[in-house]
Amino acid sequence: MKKIAIIGAGIAGLTLANFIKKFTDYEFIVYERDENLSFEHGYGIQLSTNSMKILNQISFSKINHQKIFHPKKIDLYNIQIKKICELNLSKFNSNEIKYTTLQRSTLIEFLKEDVYTQHLRFGKKIKSVSELKNKVLIKFDDNTNDLVDYVIGADGIFSNTRSFFEKEKTVPKFKKAIAVRVMLNSTSDLNINDEHISLILGGNSHIVLYPISKKKQFNMVCIIRCKRYDPENTEQLIQEIVLKQNPNLKKIFDNEIKILPLYFTSKILPSTNKKVFYIGDAFNGFLPTLAQGAGQSIESAFEIFKLLKKNRLDKENNYFENRLKRVKIVRNRSNLNFFVFHFSSSIMQIIRNIILKFLVRRKFFIKIFLGKVYKN
Ligand SMILES: Cc1cc2nc3c(=O)[nH]c(=O)nc-3n(C[C@H](O)[C@H](O)[C@H](O)COP(=O)(O)OP(=O)(O)OC[C@H]3O[C@@H](n4cnc5c(N)ncnc54)[C@H](O)[C@@H]3O)c2cc1C
Repeated sequence: MKKIAIIGAGIAGLTLANFIKKFTDYEFIVYERDENLSFEHGYGIQLSTNSMKILNQISFSKINHQKIFHPKKIDLYNIQIKKICELNLSKFNSNEIKYTTLQRSTLIEFLKEDVYTQHLRFGKKIKSVSELKNKVLIKFDDNTNDLVDYVIGADGIFSNTRSFFEKEKTVPKFKKAIAVRVMLNSTSDLNINDEHISLILGGNSHIVLYPISKKKQFNMVCIIRCKRYDPENTEQLIQEIVLKQNPNLKKIFDNEIKILPLYFTSKILPSTNKKVFYIGDAFNGFLPTLAQGAGQSIESAFEIFKLLKKNRLDKENNYFENRLKRVKIVRNRSNLNFFVFHFSSSIMQIIRNIILKFLVRRKFFIKIFLGKVYKN
């Protein structure tokens, strides 16, 4: 029986592990660098219908429904919380497959359930790799090793797996922006509909706020453009860029904040080894402005699983070409959103808002811009 090493226990690696476990007889181990899984309690994630459709095949629909939320709309506001327009998400839903928001930890808990005891190894970092009898010998820095038929790099945007198998280096680029994340128990002071996703557009910044369970918990992400990543300077940045435009937003930054610099993959390179494949952020890291990073991690894991199931992973396959096509569709839209969400000139903002109001009512636009992503 063929053996697979999955490097990295994030959303991509764990999704693939679940599919292999549920539907195939392949042997596999997920090797995680850290000593435990990253639960990042509280912080949220949006999963659109393209990823929900895949997750439901590993019984995600059976999850406790109190722990997830199905927002029906995205409400777009200007930074003064004046509504610009709304976008109906429920038109992409079916009875079983719905746009879903939840805590990241809820998703990881679910994905770990069936693979934790037998298939996950912690504290594993690759030391060297070599080819042996048509297989790949992986040596880890704790002096253990594994001889496998396939290696799946699922170790995130700064993939270390790539550095062992690829000569050409791809270094993720800093997008000159940070994400500030906060958990909230209420949005009542903001005068927004707290059952929808709120997208608040300001100069050089935007805010996304959404419920992550039925229990009035909310995730807030504020993206702020800045030249350098200087975590010490975050409060000043929030003050000078966001609160200067609307001081009433201060209360949404009152709870503990977590800061992340935003990186993206600048050049998507194929695997040069027929036994090695990259999924999730290790294939391509997106900007978060279409909320598709995890969705694409799930999709790419599912594509690898389908090839494994048909026993076609080491035969001629189009994994890279097909994934690249898909990534380009998502990447172009994420990048366009990033550009459009942050206009600082008030004239540009007015023009943008008029165009947005026009476009959200046009079926053809919704079908091309979002339908192509959500209805994979
Ligand atoms: C602010 C923000 C908001 C976001 N919101 C959304 C959203 O709403 N919806 C959405 O779909 N996406 C969202 N994303 C993107 C999404 O979180 C990522 O795209 C997704 O988590 C990537 O999953 P992954 O498994 O590929 O990589 P990761 O989550 O990075 O997991 C990689 C794993 O590999 C491990 N690892 C790293 N190096 C090694 C090594 N050398 N050896 C072994 N293991 C290693 C890591 O510890 C980790 O467990 C957001 C991103 C940001 C920054």
